Amino acid sequence: MQKTLNFPRYDALLNTDVCDARNNAELTLTLRLGFRQINPAGTAAEGTYHDYGDATAPTRKIIRWTPSAWASWKHNFVRSAQAFWNGKFWLINHLGYFGYRAGRQIFLPNIWCRFVLQGSDANIGSHHHTIDVVRLHPSENWFGSHSTLYDSLDTNSVRKGTDSHGQPIMQRAHVHEVGHLLGLGHVAIGQPGCPANGNTNASACYGTNDHDQYSVMGEGMQLRPEHAQPWIDAMRQFAATEPPSTVYTIPAPTITQLPQRMLDMMFPFTAVMRRHYPRTPAELEARQMITSRH
Ligand SMILES: [Zn+2]
Repeated sequence: MQKTLNFPRYDALLNTDVCDARNNAELTLTLRLGFRQINPAGTAAEGTYHDYGDATAPTRKIIRWTPSAWASWKHNFVRSAQAFWNGKFWLINHLGYFGYRAGRQIFLPNIWCRFVLQGSDANIGSHHHTIDVVRLHPSENWFGSHSTLYDSLDTNSVRKGTDSHGQPIMQRAHVHEVGHLLGLGHVAIGQPGCPANGNTNASACYGTNDHDQYSVMGEGMQLRPEHAQPWIDAMRQFAATEPPSTVYTIPAPTITQLPQRMLDMMFPFTAVMRRHYPRTPAELEARQMITSRH
């Protein structure tokens, strides 16, 4: 089957047609972004724009977009952000959803998480998010951007922080912002200095230790299993809305299996960051993880 569910932040396509003894189901999240130029007023070649689009914040010098600069900025943004997020996670299917036959054997797929980023001009087609973009004057090296207001340098790697050894922590801002567009928050939300009901842009929210700071949802570029949450959320919806498989139903748990089964029912899909192959019913019921298959 190939089935699409539309969420406010993205579209989700579950494809089980690709499943066989070695290939998992594929879940593709598609994010459609509409980009809108911010240009100097009137026909001026140069102007200014406020950080964060906030009239009380400092201004930076901006220049007019040219068709070629605009086309190349969009292309670079879309290609590099898609490559960063695509194909990095596999979801372990603990309850054996979407079973199928390959030859005479039943398999239960894990889920490979794919990502497609589609960017076009905001006035063409429909989009999950509209992003305004300023083109900074060559004399500017910083602009206050946020998840729907970018600048022309946001695809560059810049120093966002410093680790405990004094080493710079580098980040390409756009991959972090795409994380926000997928629904992810900052790495340290809920920890001291970053209450979930407070300002989640406070500096403590980007991490107060090396591990957190190096996260892509902190100041760095590292992906972690918790960043698969948008795919997990989508899979839970597919599992809830699809009729039960006629091929396989996980047996009722024994008394000793009950605590684990309750956990699996709370978290039917958990993320890993290397390929895990589809499992036979015996492998799934023994909770074996199959990371190679010959
Ligand atoms: Zn952020």
